[in-house]
This record gives sequence, C-alpha cells and structure tokens, in this order.
Amino acid sequence: MNKTIKTDVLIIGSGPAGYTAAIYAARANLKPHLVSGLEPGGQLTITTDVENYPGFGDVIQGPWLMEQMKEQAIKVGTEFHHDIVNNVNFDEIPFLAETDSGLTFNSKSIIIATGAQARWLNLDSENKYKGFGISACATCDGFFFKDQNIIVVGGGNSAVEEALYLTNFASKVTLVHRRDKLRAEKILQERLFKHPKIEVIWNHTVEEFIGSDEPLSLKKIKLKNTQSDDEKIVDATGAFIAIGHDPSTSLFKEKIKMDNENYIITKSDSTETNVKGVFAAGDVKDKVFRQAVTAAGMGCMAALEAEKFIAENF
Ligand code: NAP
Repeated sequence: MNKTIKTDVLIIGSGPAGYTAAIYAARANLKPHLVSGLEPGGQLTITTDVENYPGFGDVIQGPWLMEQMKEQAIKVGTEFHHDIVNNVNFDEIPFLAETDSGLTFNSKSIIIATGAQARWLNLDSENKYKGFGISACATCDGFFFKDQNIIVVGGGNSAVEEALYLTNFASKVTLVHRRDKLRAEKILQERLFKHPKIEVIWNHTVEEFIGSDEPLSLKKIKLKNTQSDDEKIVDATGAFIAIGHDPSTSLFKEKIKMDNENYIITKSDSTETNVKGVFAAGDVKDKVFRQAVTAAGMGCMAALEAEKFIAENF
C-alpha cells in the first residue's frame, strides 16, 4: 500500500517519550502521526510491576501503563501506525520518512523517540527468569529484593551504581565482572570497594541461572572462571544485568549528530538536535536517567519545541 501522508509532526517510537510527545502535539492541534516500531510500548512492555511512575497508588503493570498511554494519545487525536520506519531524509523540509508497509511521510518536524535496549547475556536461563528474579533496571525493580542476596553483572558505571543502589534493599550484593578491572569511574569504584554489603567476584561470567518453576523464581547462579574454566554456584534470588544499553539509532547514522556511543546529541535543556525541526526525546538521547518519567518529560519538551518551530517557520 503506497501512500503519502503530509503532516506537521511525525513521531517515531512508542515508549513514554513518543506517546507523551503525541499527547502534547495532538492537544496543540498538530494532528501528529506516530509510527510505533516493532515493539509498541518499548521497554516498559517487558517489565512487570511498576511502582515509580507517579499518579498510581497501587502497583501497576508496565504493559498496561503503555496501553493507557497509547489510548490517551489516540483519544486526543494522534494517528497511530503499527509500522516500522526504514528510511529518513532530513536534508530538506518537509522531512521524509518511509515505512515497511509503503507509507511515505512528508513532515514539517520529526520527533525521534526510538529508545534504547538493555544488553542481555542471551542465555536461555536468563530468558526464563527475566521478570522473575532477573532485571536490567535497579531503580525500577530493586525495591522488590528487600533482604535478599543479589548479584549484579558488569563492570561499568551502571553496574557499580546499581550495586551501590541495591545495598539500600539487599542483605548482600555481589558484583560479578568478567575481568580483573572495572571500567567505572574511580570515585564510584572507591565507594563500591569500601561498602560493607558488597563483594566483588573478578574474572567470572554467568553460565546459568538456576531456580524453581512453581513459582517461577531465581535461586542460584552458576559462574565460570574466565581463566581456569572452574565453575561455582552462588546463592542469589535476584540478578541485575548491567552490561550496557544500545540506543536505537542505526536509522539516523550520518543523518544526525550522535556521540561516540550512538546516543543522539541535543542542545542543553532542550530536545533540539543539530538538524532544525528534528527533535530527540527519551532514552535515545539519555544515558544517565533512563526512566519512564524522565522520558515522558522529554517527550513533552519535544512536542512543545516542535510546536514552537512550526509556529515560527510556517
Ligand atoms: P559500559 O560502560 O559499556 O560497561 C559495560 C560493562 O559490562 C563493561 O564492564 C563490560 O565489560 C561488561 N560487559 C559487556 N558485555 C558483557 C557480557 N556479555 N558479559 C559480561 N560483561 C559484559 O556500560 P554502562 O555502564 O551501562 O555505561 C554506558 C555509558 O553510560 C558509559 O558512557 C557510562 O559512563 C555512562 N553512564 C554514566 C553514568 C553517570 O554518569 N553517573 C551512569 C551510568 C552510565 P568490560 O569492561 O570487560 O568490557
């Protein structure tokens, strides 16, 4: 189905940043179009309990929250497309975006909200216990591991920050790293090494997550020494994988300015990219906070900035 759609605002991505941008743009009467991508709802659709998104007295479910955001965006006037953008051209306005199903958008402004994905170890046993003891976000899920033994995998800033944060809940935190040196900043390393609740296991990788089936829950972790191949079992009912994130930006390579880790660069206190009329919001431009609520805030900023851009230029 080849079809050309002219619009004021095209939003690419359907996490909290994309939906919030859609809600604000629609309420500004800009009749935005939103292309959802492969996994509508983004990272929150693979989490379970959410307790830190303001406005809900009871625990809510990530997928439900995203359904609500979608419904709200559509109700106020967003045109939703379950489709994938496969090509963009930012050389001139209107900008061009083409999708897998044959749609071509000509848009006066574009909001990129394609998010990021946590890297996983890609073990079968990891898939089994994801959401049932295994998480990639300590801020989101740490609270559920009160007085438990937890491991954190990784050696960068995220792993060390998550290990420190988790000491607020856990009885013991074990950081498991594949080498004998961390890449995290020295100041974080110092805090980690002197924390009484934290132990570091060097030169080990995870071989297998072991647990029970009913209820599905993690109990132990099999580790392997990267030098001797020796294996050992650690008791832990929680595991946080903190081996980095990958922003979903391959579509925009060479079309927009990114940093050396492929996060989109925006101006300070703004979602403006180096291309006037193209804005970026949420995890695609944020490697520090990575929260649903901060992404939503940036989505709001992007819509307000797109509205201003259109008012001033058309
Ligand atoms: P990162 O710096 O890329 O570190 C990833 C860590 O995971 C590394 O230690 C790496 O080991 C390990 N790793 C990667 N793949 C692995 C695998 N398959 N199995 C086992 N271990 C694996 O990622 P990050 O910590 O998420 O940080 C990303 C960026 O965000 C960095 O620029 C960081 O400085 C920034 N950040 C900043 C802050 C802050 O400013 N407060 C907080 C968080 C993140 P090796 O060391 O052996 O490669």
